[in-house]
Amino acid sequence: MIEFVLEDSCIACGKCVEICPTDVFELTSSVVEIARKEDCTSCMNCELYCPTDALYVSPMRNPEIDLDRNAIVSAGLIGSYRRAMNWENGRAPSGTGDNWGVLLNERQGEKKPPPGDKIREQLYRMKDRNLI
Ligand code: SF4
Ligand code: SF4
Repeated sequence: MIEFVLEDSCIACGKCVEICPTDVFELTSSVVEIARKEDCTSCMNCELYCPTDALYVSPMRNPEIDLDRNAIVSAGLIGSYRRAMNWENGRAPSGTGDNWGVLLNERQGEKKPPPGDKIREQLYRMKDRNLI
């Protein structure tokens, strides 16, 4: 589920508003707001398309009540999914066709992250051990 937007990184480009399939965001003049968090399906599209890595989507279906925003930033998890999927500047890697969409669908229902998402896999393990 979408957990937070880094206000200092958001350039209010509106890409996440455009790409979100469940209309979670509202765009103001300077930043995007999570207006309908409960509608997030953890599809991860916003993380892929954000050109400034300003978003964080948890791999969990439900909100993480005790989520430590600073720990996630410090751990380098911001943008890690996009990097693992070889996306750059809001663009899909060339030559992969729509395969990324299949991988994203597999993220639904708290299934394991794709093999390339090493950092997010680590987050799962950390949560299992109650470290964050
Ligand atoms: S895509 Fe990223 S930079 Fe653009 S409005 Fe959304 S959070 Fe802000
Ligand atoms: S993860 Fe998907 S459903 Fe959730 S806010 Fe991002 S784009 Fe919308």
